[in-house]
Amino acid sequence: MPKLLTKGSKALFFQKNRCQGCEMCVVVCPTGVLELSDEYNMRAARVPRVKHGKEVSCILCQRCEFACPNWAIYVVDEQPGEQKPAGQDVKGAARV
Ligand code: SF4
Ligand code: SF4
Repeated sequence: MPKLLTKGSKALFFQKNRCQGCEMCVVVCPTGVLELSDEYNMRAARVPRVKHGKEVSCILCQRCEFACPNWAIYVVDEQPGEQKPAGQDVKGAARV
């Protein structure tokens, strides 16, 4: 999966072709990490990127994840056994 940045065991992922270029992730980021790039995806949408040198400013707050209408950008905890998105609630998962 494409990563925008990594911090400790967590990473910010971006699925480029899910993006519709709405810029919501850019607007809601409290630390100004993201900006729209000059790159277009398969949907002819301008996709976001991490501003040069701003990787360290990401606080993994998931606001971009919650704001994205297409779940194109999201935080994942990559610790072993934690391959799900960090904000995903598994309490309601069906038992087998
Ligand atoms: S996780 Fe939070 S700080 Fe990091 S890019 Fe998304 S909105 Fe910005
Ligand atoms: S909020 Fe989602 S769809 Fe909108 S620009 Fe950001 S990644 Fe793309």
